[in-house]
Amino acid sequence: MSRSPPRRNAAGFSELAKKHLGQNFLHDRAVVDKIVLAVNPQPGDRLVEIGPGQGALTFPLLDRIGEMTAIEFDRDLLQPLAQAATAHGTLTLIAADVLSVDFTALAGDGQLRLVGNLPYNLSSPILFHALDHASAVRDMHFMLQKEVVERMASGPGNKVYGRLSVMLQAYCTVTPLFTVAPGSFRPAPKVDSAVVRLVPRPPQTIGIDDPRRFAAVVRAAFGQRRKTLRNALDGVVDSETMMAAGVRPDLRAEQLAVADFVRIANVPVAA
Ligand code: SAM
Repeated sequence: MSRSPPRRNAAGFSELAKKHLGQNFLHDRAVVDKIVLAVNPQPGDRLVEIGPGQGALTFPLLDRIGEMTAIEFDRDLLQPLAQAATAHGTLTLIAADVLSVDFTALAGDGQLRLVGNLPYNLSSPILFHALDHASAVRDMHFMLQKEVVERMASGPGNKVYGRLSVMLQAYCTVTPLFTVAPGSFRPAPKVDSAVVRLVPRPPQTIGIDDPRRFAAVVRAAFGQRRKTLRNALDGVVDSETMMAAGVRPDLRAEQLAVADFVRIANVPVAA
């Protein structure tokens, strides 16, 4: 028996969302307007949307600035997106997995403004990918799971403070903007969502000597977050190094500020 093709709406988009691609399409005009207002795009901005889907954010953004780029992995969406975009402006579509896109190359001699209602299953990899290209990015406005935004913005002593908080706050200012209820999406996700703004810090103010070393220290410290730093960082940083950085080895990772991790990672490692 042959399967009938998925039903399509008037714009030619399939009415079936692909769960494995994190497709929860925004249909709440008030939320779209709040995001556009938060981004406040200006003509000339190099706006790049991650996962344009059926264009809920793309078209209002295009209406504001006339041209932008969008990166979409689902090839079934490309043709109807390109078609519908012509009424709003010039949309350059990159058919790719966003994790394979070199933002630094895409930025050329400028800086990108990244926007996206992200596929929630890929949130952390996308955030870390953007961090790898932080100097090519002017700012980011992302819709994520509310719980992820809370982790991104939390500070020492908070139970959700962890690797994601430290890594993002070391390189960016993180500002949660507003929450969004499941009913604003189709299909509705099982979780609340939130929009967050990330602004990469100027490179000269970050103060991290060796980004790989910093990432390794933070990963190890939170890998065993219930342990003291002396134990969690065993084999990565010794107690003398911690004390040289002014950090007590009997503390736990969740008690340290971002600057403490930076100081520990910056202590030169004896050859
Ligand atoms: N922006 C649309 C909206 O707000 O309605 C769609 C958002 S939906 C939550 C996530 C979008 O990301 C989908 O269009 C999905 O196909 C796309 N996507 C999923 N994985 C991707 C990847 N690895 N690279 C680029 N886009 C991806």
